[in-house]
Amino acid sequence: MRPIIKLEDVTKNYADATALDHVSLKVKQGEIFTIAGPNGSGKTTMLRIMALIDTPTSGEVHFNSVKIGEENRSQIRSKCTMVFQKTALFNTTVYKNIAYGLKLRRFSKKEIDERVKDVLDLVKLNGYEKRLAKKLSGGEQQRISLARALVLDTELLLLDEPTANLDPKNMSIIEETVSRVNRERKNTVVMATHNLFQAETITKRAALLLGGKIVEVGTAQEIFRTPSRHLASFARLENVFSGVSRSLKEGTSLIDVGDGVEIEAALRKSGKISVFVRPEDIILSRKPISSSARNVFKGRIVEVSDLKSVVKLRVDAGKQFVVQITKRSFNEMQLNVRSEVFLTFKASSVHVI
Ligand code: ADP
Ligand code: MG
Repeated sequence: MRPIIKLEDVTKNYADATALDHVSLKVKQGEIFTIAGPNGSGKTTMLRIMALIDTPTSGEVHFNSVKIGEENRSQIRSKCTMVFQKTALFNTTVYKNIAYGLKLRRFSKKEIDERVKDVLDLVKLNGYEKRLAKKLSGGEQQRISLARALVLDTELLLLDEPTANLDPKNMSIIEETVSRVNRERKNTVVMATHNLFQAETITKRAALLLGGKIVEVGTAQEIFRTPSRHLASFARLENVFSGVSRSLKEGTSLIDVGDGVEIEAALRKSGKISVFVRPEDIILSRKPISSSARNVFKGRIVEVSDLKSVVKLRVDAGKQFVVQITKRSFNEMQLNVRSEVFLTFKASSVHVI
């Protein structure tokens, strides 16, 4: 099938970062394609370039075999809709939020009413027209954002981490909606996710992005079921933090990684630093445990991914940490999204990148 969007040797440089590094990729007409990668790997940058919102520093973008340039960019941009990771709903009713894009496109009142109703049915929020969008729960707001994009029924739909931080119910409604519009309306969907293991559920093809480079492209099966060097490094790169380090008398260092989180590391270094902690090196408990480990954080579970024999949890403790535990421990501790937990790890489990 012919590609709807093609990136050819695309590089995107920012002042102090190369967000995309010579990326070439084709997304086929009518597929659901996932871009998986850890935080900072360049997913959002890639989606913004595909949505024709940003331009690459070098390289070419083709939409339906037409090369994008200044002369056709804004016209072709209207064939794409991007749902941003951070929901920015207008402070008004659900109806007005969803109708906005249609009004701009001068649809009739009757048609707007019908379309709004249809998409609210799709995201399972029928009857919500008059509710105030900002008063809805996070998951519902995320579904309204999706509805606002779906109502335009564009050829290409770009979703930036659409299920991040959602509970399993909202997550599955969003996944079902995306599968359904893809099946019934044939919209092409490109979805970014930091959650490798969720990527597999509704997608056939995926690319793995690491440090702005595509390191693997293939079927979800090929990528996610075959252990590879990249998968290993992806797992290892989950808990990456950057901040400013200062040496302590004890011979360790305290790294201020922002949002009130300070990580103690068994190394002597002052100044800017990036470190990672392996998910399996973090002990998760319901109550604080007594140990000599230097790092203890209290947080809440914000995401649960069920793998074969283990469960991956994302815990918000100011910064987000990914923790891996056995399914048995998960069940024994009766954990779920929003459970309050403690994270404990040793200063020697903090590694410099
Ligand atoms: P992801 O979505 O995978 O987390 P991003 O595409 O947001 O990754 O970012 C990739 C890299 O580019 C990061 O190092 C980030 O700091 C940098 N970056 C992204 N957007 C900007 C920007 N507007 N200005 C400067 N640097 C940016
Ligand atoms: Mg992003």
